[in-house]
Amino acid sequence: MSRPKSMSAREPIRERRPQFWQVAKRCCQIAATVDVAFFFLFHLLGSPILAWVNVVSVTMYVVAYRALARKQNGLAMSLIWAEVIIHAGLGVLLIGWESGFHYFLLMFIPALFVSMALRTAVIFLVALWSYYITLYLVMWVIEPLQPIAPGALLAVYLFNLSVVFAMFSYLSFFYLTMVTTANRKLRRMATTDSLTALFNRRQMTELAEKELARFQRTGRPVAFLVLDIDHFKAINDRHGHEVGDRVLIEVANLIKAQLRTQDLISRWGGEEFLAVLPDTGLDSAQASAERMRKALLAHDWLATTGEPIDLTISAGVSELRPGDNLNSAISRADRALYRSKEGGRNRVELETI
Ligand code: GH3
Ligand code: MG
Ligand code: MG
Repeated sequence: MSRPKSMSAREPIRERRPQFWQVAKRCCQIAATVDVAFFFLFHLLGSPILAWVNVVSVTMYVVAYRALARKQNGLAMSLIWAEVIIHAGLGVLLIGWESGFHYFLLMFIPALFVSMALRTAVIFLVALWSYYITLYLVMWVIEPLQPIAPGALLAVYLFNLSVVFAMFSYLSFFYLTMVTTANRKLRRMATTDSLTALFNRRQMTELAEKELARFQRTGRPVAFLVLDIDHFKAINDRHGHEVGDRVLIEVANLIKAQLRTQDLISRWGGEEFLAVLPDTGLDSAQASAERMRKALLAHDWLATTGEPIDLTISAGVSELRPGDNLNSAISRADRALYRSKEGGRNRVELETI
């Protein structure tokens, strides 16, 4: 079976970064505004050629912005690249390396790696580096074609430097936000079940181990509830897998609604849930399981799934004992669940010796 496109390791990163294009749009706006300022600045400084270069630049940014809005990302990126490369080149050639126009080229370095596949990014990077070096060497040999007064040159340099500082800060902030968001998403994916949004088995095991350690330290009671939907296979068979999924989500929500904030709840298996209740003895845990059972029994399934479903749940309850490990405590709850099933389902049973 071929791998889905989104899973391909070679897929360019830009396919997965809608935020990147938002930032590109914002950069077009900022750059166009800066170029409008440049137009007036260079008129004042007596450099009409550079002033009119900025009119062309603003036009290119407006077209690039509109292309981004129409999702013509390739065209937009070509325009932005062309603008920065030509503008930086012309600025340096006309008024000198000390103008600082070349700094704008450096802003492409991080953007390259975010916007394209690694191989392409490296090729563009080498091309950018060659251009930068060539520009420097050319200015080493020739004099600026349209020099401006030293004071004006200093003003242009400080202006360019400040704009590059601001743009780099903005981009860095964007990259940071992007990485933080991605990390959060990965963490959520690693710890929760995608259907019900409850903890997954791995995360629950980790959290339950902590509760076990706390029990061993403090001796405060911890209860385990294993809950299993009765005849769920029949619900799937009768109403379809999609309705089955919706039932699972709703059951998860209803169970969660009966728990306290410190209680832990996970999807332990297909249609099986494990709850760990700290500071809870057997009797309170049983009461809690009964509340869940009754809430599910009273639920209006027609309203939530569009199907009249007879849904019941069985549960087994245990509590931690000295010398327990997770397996032994959960096994006792499992055996209690088994007795609930054997006893006719739709009931809660406590662990026995
Ligand atoms: P019992 O009362 O003995 O627990 O019977 P049961 O039918 O609930 O148990 P059984 O283990 O025979 O079947 C569990 C069913 O749960 C089978 C499986 O297809 C279904 N199931 C597991 N995970 C999912 C899921 O994510 N979505 C849906 N729709 N069904 C699931
Ligand atoms: Mg079941
Ligand atoms: Mg089951």
